[in-house]
Amino acid sequence: MANEDKQFVTEITPQDEDFSRWYIDVIKKADLMDYSPVRGCIVFKPDGYEIWEHIQEELDRRFKETGHRNAYFPLFIPESFFQKEKEHVEGFNPELPWVTEAGGEKLEERLAIRPTSETMIGHMYEKWIQSYRDLPVLINQWANVVRWEKRTLPFLRTSEFLWQEGHTAHENEQDAREETMRMLEIYRDFVENYLAIPVIVGQKTPSEKFAGAVDTYSIEAMMKDGRAVQAGTSHYLGTNFANAFDIQYLNRDNVREYVHTTSWGVSTRLIGSLIMVHGDDRGLALPPKVAPKQVMIIPIGPPKTRDAVVGRADELFAELKQAGVRVGIDDRGDIRPGWKFNEYEMRGVPVRLEIGPRDMENGVCVLVSRISGEKKVVSQDNLVEEVKAMLEQVHNEMFERAKAFREEHFYSVDTLEEMKASMDEKRGFTLAGWCGSEACESHVKEETGATSRNIPFEPEVTKTTCLVCGEAAKHTVVFARAY
Ligand code: AMP
Repeated sequence: MANEDKQFVTEITPQDEDFSRWYIDVIKKADLMDYSPVRGCIVFKPDGYEIWEHIQEELDRRFKETGHRNAYFPLFIPESFFQKEKEHVEGFNPELPWVTEAGGEKLEERLAIRPTSETMIGHMYEKWIQSYRDLPVLINQWANVVRWEKRTLPFLRTSEFLWQEGHTAHENEQDAREETMRMLEIYRDFVENYLAIPVIVGQKTPSEKFAGAVDTYSIEAMMKDGRAVQAGTSHYLGTNFANAFDIQYLNRDNVREYVHTTSWGVSTRLIGSLIMVHGDDRGLALPPKVAPKQVMIIPIGPPKTRDAVVGRADELFAELKQAGVRVGIDDRGDIRPGWKFNEYEMRGVPVRLEIGPRDMENGVCVLVSRISGEKKVVSQDNLVEEVKAMLEQVHNEMFERAKAFREEHFYSVDTLEEMKASMDEKRGFTLAGWCGSEACESHVKEETGATSRNIPFEPEVTKTTCLVCGEAAKHTVVFARAY
């Protein structure tokens, strides 16, 4: 490797040296985002935004497939709306930015910039829902929201972020609970099979649930530094918002009843998660299904064969593009292939396609996997299938690696002492028994910095005693330090 190539790579801080630094180096160098002049608000640059667009496309497809439709509600929410649901206002008040003046005049009522839209949507549903014939209401909104966060980190926790929020209303608890679980399962399947991130599916403890929810469910992912990210949430809201906004309907027996509602959301936090799960010391490694470029073609060889090689590379480019592969070609003659290899590895392009004069003669080209470095010589005749197979293989390998990492960093403990030791010496998640008391849960946090992530639906083992007080365990809980 030439000196300048080494220099190029070593600009990224190694993960083991300083993971936070690594993260910032990578997202800046790969040109995904930039900081803005407003605290905690980032600019999504085209490559960062395109990842979000691919996330959106697929989720949107899945939401519609399950009967949901998109709508759009206002950004500003009157203060009085928040006062209607006590827990909701207490939960969100510290994070709300207020508009107090507009058009040069002081407003009669302050307007919050939405941190989430339950209240505005509750207000509208009260008008729209009269009878059981109006139910269920299955609406999703793609929007930006604002939560004035104390600690911020690009993508993972920003003051303004992009997300989708689903808001549904149902005749009864059973229908609403089924919806809550259906959407949680869509998130699990999407995050695992699209972003190649294995997740733990479970229920939040009461202290960690959404402000105003009866039950909150989440999917939790492990980053490469062992910390957790709550990657998505689905809430059963019971009749809390229906009571607050008086959303009643005439049921099939002609009796007025409150609707049962749900809400569910994932955000641009998913971008931060996939970077922290898959990236390595060479830079980003993007899951093929959301990568802006899935394949980068790099023609190689001496100047005298250049035109012929580039000509053939252009044909392969057109063929892949025609087949729906997101493909790029870097045929710049003044930049050496070695530099390009590093560049696209750093940018996380899942597959590199190399073609040189000898390959041309033999009717082949070389595919290189970003994640394993594996090289495969393939025939140009069935290039499309070979490329698609390699993309699939890269996806599977990313998922398997992430899963193996999580398994290696998953500890089962019986006491707080054991948990402290495991938190201090190793990074990762711990599984422990919990009696159900808030005091024990907050004691864990004070002592270890770890919070309860969720009560997994399928724990690997079932714990019988609480790790703090030693009483009988009500639940087996995943604890971790989290972003
Ligand atoms: P919630 O409405 O609190 O359940 O949040 C829904 C989803 O939005 C969460 O599961 C997170 O993934 C995400 N989220 C919450 N706060 C932030 C933030 N400050 N920045 C980015 N994503 C967030």
